[in-house]
Amino acid sequence: MAGAELIGQEEIREVMEVMETGILMRYEFHDQRKGVYKVAEFERAFAEYLRVSHTLGVTSGSAALKVALTALDVGPGDEVIVPAFDFIATYEAVLEVGAIPVMTDIDDTFNLDPKAIEGRLSPCTKAIIPVHMCGAPARIEEIMVLARKHNLLVLEDNAQACGGSVAGKMLGTFGDMGIMSFDFFKTITTGEGGMVVTDSKHLYDRSDWYHDHGHDHNPAVGRALEGRTILGFNYRMNELQGALGLAQLRKLDFIIAEQKKNKALLKEALGGVPGIKFRTLVDPEGDTSTFLGFSLPEESAAKSFQKALKDYGVDSIYYKENAWHYAPRWEHLIAGATANSKGYPFTNPMYKGKVDYSVEHIPNAEDLLGRSLFMIVPVKMSEERKEIIVKGIEKASKLI
Ligand SMILES: *Cc1c(COP(=O)(O)O)cnc(C)c1O
Repeated sequence: MAGAELIGQEEIREVMEVMETGILMRYEFHDQRKGVYKVAEFERAFAEYLRVSHTLGVTSGSAALKVALTALDVGPGDEVIVPAFDFIATYEAVLEVGAIPVMTDIDDTFNLDPKAIEGRLSPCTKAIIPVHMCGAPARIEEIMVLARKHNLLVLEDNAQACGGSVAGKMLGTFGDMGIMSFDFFKTITTGEGGMVVTDSKHLYDRSDWYHDHGHDHNPAVGRALEGRTILGFNYRMNELQGALGLAQLRKLDFIIAEQKKNKALLKEALGGVPGIKFRTLVDPEGDTSTFLGFSLPEESAAKSFQKALKDYGVDSIYYKENAWHYAPRWEHLIAGATANSKGYPFTNPMYKGKVDYSVEHIPNAEDLLGRSLFMIVPVKMSEERKEIIVKGIEKASKLI
């Protein structure tokens, strides 16, 4: 639960500063807001944290994906490479802009396999979305090389590894664009919220325009007189979210440090489990440690270990059968059941490709997720809870 575990006086103080002005919108009302611009301040602080040129707060991580894909001009007729192990929002965002998500295999990092990407390219491929799942980086440096070779755009979905890095460079800043989510389950939270990040002024401008009905946010004129180049929509972050984001961002390094300690404890307890192999980390330093992933030699061992853990009060996640995180489980996607009765964009005549969601394209995901479990690593763990977990793991490991 990460940031949500730590909501306290700092968040209350930040939110109250907004409430005392009464101005909940990020734009306008300059005379009434007494210098309080929380979203703008959060964006600046976040840009500094990531060492990136441009950041844009939006209403959610899903909205951030849609805004970024729109800024990148990914749309009808295009295909986008996405990992089979993911959260469904990445696929939905691609479909929302009229493009087609292409389910691609993962490797022992549990993230997009660079070696599998080439086999999934087609003349329609426009972009790759590496997703840094469960707190830890994808092989982003290799993916960038591959993308440049094939002239493809890269949008990093960093909803799940906010604060993570590879070789000291922050996740979300490798690709042409990156996104974060601040929903209630994420590493830091604004209730609902998201961020678009990029080093490109052009891509930032397009994001900025699109997320607010095309407004160019020209400070020299009032909102009613602002210019516009493209049509947009409303994905504006509000001041309460900005306030929460500021308080939470200050806690991010602490959150990661505590999770690292707790993860080390769990890892040590699991060390004695017969045949266990921990998830490969591209850069252990840059792991945010929100999750601990491991595999056992067989599917039956993973399932019986999960059951035994449960009996001793220890929860774990078996993602192969998870309804929201594994593409072959999305019966509505596979049926082409988009949110409109026409089945657009699968039925769009501008789309010349042929997408195929059968599992034969993802042998590693089928094998690996079939015999792997994940544990959520909390920020706060009482001594009692630690003892229950460590003892539970010990007892359960004797049963497999
Ligand atoms: C949570 C999440 C999203 C969407 O974020 P929301 O803020 O919940 O809309 C997108 N991608 C991944 C990988 C996620 O985990």
